[in-house]
Amino acid sequence: MARKFNFSAGPAMLPTAVMERAQQEMLEWNGSGMSVMEMSHRGKEYMSIATKAEQNLREVMSIPDNYKVLFLQGGASSQFAMIPLNLLGDKDSADYLNTGMWSKKAIAEAKRYCTVNIAADTSGDSFTTVPTQESLKLNPDAAYVHYTPNETIGGVEFDYIPETGGVPLIADMSSTILSRPIDVSRFGMIYAGAQKNIGPAGLTIVIIRDDLLGNASEQTPAMFNYAIHAENGSMYNTPATYSWYMAGLVFEWIKEQGGLDAMAAVNKRKADKLYAVIDGSNFYGSPVAVNGRSWMNVPFTLADSELDGAFLAGAVERGLITLKGHRSVGGMRASIYNAMPEEGVDALVAYMQEFESNQG
Ligand SMILES: *Cc1c(COP(=O)(O)O)cnc(C)c1O
Repeated sequence: MARKFNFSAGPAMLPTAVMERAQQEMLEWNGSGMSVMEMSHRGKEYMSIATKAEQNLREVMSIPDNYKVLFLQGGASSQFAMIPLNLLGDKDSADYLNTGMWSKKAIAEAKRYCTVNIAADTSGDSFTTVPTQESLKLNPDAAYVHYTPNETIGGVEFDYIPETGGVPLIADMSSTILSRPIDVSRFGMIYAGAQKNIGPAGLTIVIIRDDLLGNASEQTPAMFNYAIHAENGSMYNTPATYSWYMAGLVFEWIKEQGGLDAMAAVNKRKADKLYAVIDGSNFYGSPVAVNGRSWMNVPFTLADSELDGAFLAGAVERGLITLKGHRSVGGMRASIYNAMPEEGVDALVAYMQEFESNQG
């Protein structure tokens, strides 16, 4: 049995070294006589795991002290509702940038709670571009500005952080967090489901500036209230203990690799290699505008879509799996998060060249 190169958009590959460590610690963690899965979340062993994970994330991302880090459940999708419930305060309108399938879902949910001002909309070009800063129609009275820096399905990534003139900027970083260094202080809040670039599913990370806490609307369920989670160290109820532990191992692994600068260098190289094959031939194409091309999710098409099935079948034979594009976009999509080794991308590149020369 061999591990394959899995290009799934999520849940996605985890670093092999992390899973080997988890395997070693599976039955008994560090002399505790029990598995992490069996620990009380309030016991000293688990508290040490949880605290260390947060410290390591803070260190890796250089998170300023005036931000809380929350380890929640419910996926990024729950955040689509938690954001308006917690952040509208006494305002009744929020700005949303509509740049893809995930933005659309966030917008649909926000509309239950407030007036949504669509400050940018790239649906007209099938979500293949990034709106420019100058084109954003921001409302200075908005409670916040929400956007999706990396649209996982379309493979479109912002090449800048929007300037919002003091209105808190909220970012769904589910598929780009930890892919490179970012300036956290530019954001009011960052959130991400774990299953792309952090760890196993079941955990959602929220990084939120202190001054945004405590304004939740009256009807907000306790479990949806950031302030309650912050006051309780993300242990108002039982957190996703094992996913939190696994995320902690991933943060340690990132530190061992040299931190986010090192991750960024590898990620850029991996993405460049793939886009070079796509651009270097008439056989492959990318639907995405060059300045908006994602480092993490690389959609590509074949000149003749009749060959898609043969391409995917040949890939599977070579241990390159889950390359089929999202049903809404078609073609292929290679998700190449931090845990995808560069050799995986090299193997895909070699296969693409071989397939082209056999068919082209
Ligand atoms: C995967 C994804 C989501 C949904 O995450 P869940 O954890 O399944 O709710 C939301 N936004 C983006 C950008 C994603 O990639």
